[in-house]
Amino acid sequence: MDILSSQANLAGYRAVIEGAYHLDRIFPLLMTAAGTVTPAKVLIFGVGVAGLQAIATAKRLGAVVEATDVRPETKEQVESLGGKFIEVKGVEVGSEGGYAKEASEEYRKAQREAVNQSLAKSDLVITTALVPGKKAPVLIDDEQLALMKNGSVIIDMAAEQGGNCSQSKPGEIISVNGVKIVGSVNMPAAVSGNASDLFARNIWELLKLIGPKGQIELDEKDEIVDGCLITHQGKIRKSDS
Ligand code: NAD
Repeated sequence: MDILSSQANLAGYRAVIEGAYHLDRIFPLLMTAAGTVTPAKVLIFGVGVAGLQAIATAKRLGAVVEATDVRPETKEQVESLGGKFIEVKGVEVGSEGGYAKEASEEYRKAQREAVNQSLAKSDLVITTALVPGKKAPVLIDDEQLALMKNGSVIIDMAAEQGGNCSQSKPGEIISVNGVKIVGSVNMPAAVSGNASDLFARNIWELLKLIGPKGQIELDEKDEIVDGCLITHQGKIRKSDS
């Protein structure tokens, strides 16, 4: 039933493919008579569902991958996929129900110091960082953009939620000091065959939950039914205020 996961997984894959398309380099190490091509360096901000799939995809294409996240438990997940985890030492952000909390300015400063060296060497940067209910955190500001290599590419998967990169524009591809910034929107639509299959299965499972015998029977105590029910029997059950 988890629509966010099924779609984010595909989006993570597609972000790497799109990044590869915009890069003027290949991903894998190539040793030829004409010289050695070093592997592309990929840096991923945010190691949730999309970030993990992006790491796996970039690794399969032969890139050297680094990643960072506010949730320390993601270190092991990154390493299990063959990536290097960039730790932000000394400051904690914490999480709630598996999701990140908003990072403090102190954390942001430490994170900047921890990632800047990698950022300056990266060919492709994929940003996926989100905090539920908040605007996406800015993780690459103008100063950091200026550190990046000419010809490098940023795929900002958080563009629609405000962007992880200060300059990204949703739905647009722009160039700032030779860095291409792709403000990606609705990434799963680019792999619509799989996205539709998984989405249909998600909806089918939800329908089975709310109508196991073909008639809608809402069990308000069920966590998923409760989360979906905004109004019921004349009562407003969920509101923003
Ligand atoms: P998300 O889309 O909300 O955010 C993406 C990532 O950005 C998260 O890993 C988050 O920690 C990170 N992030 C937020 N602020 C950041 C910052 N300032 N700097 C760096 N990184 C930052 O996350 P998601 O993909 O929905 O996954 C969140 C968690 O929920 C994961 O533990 C995931 O495995 C879990 N999850 C579990 C299920 C399931 O059990 N079925 C389904 C979906 C997600």
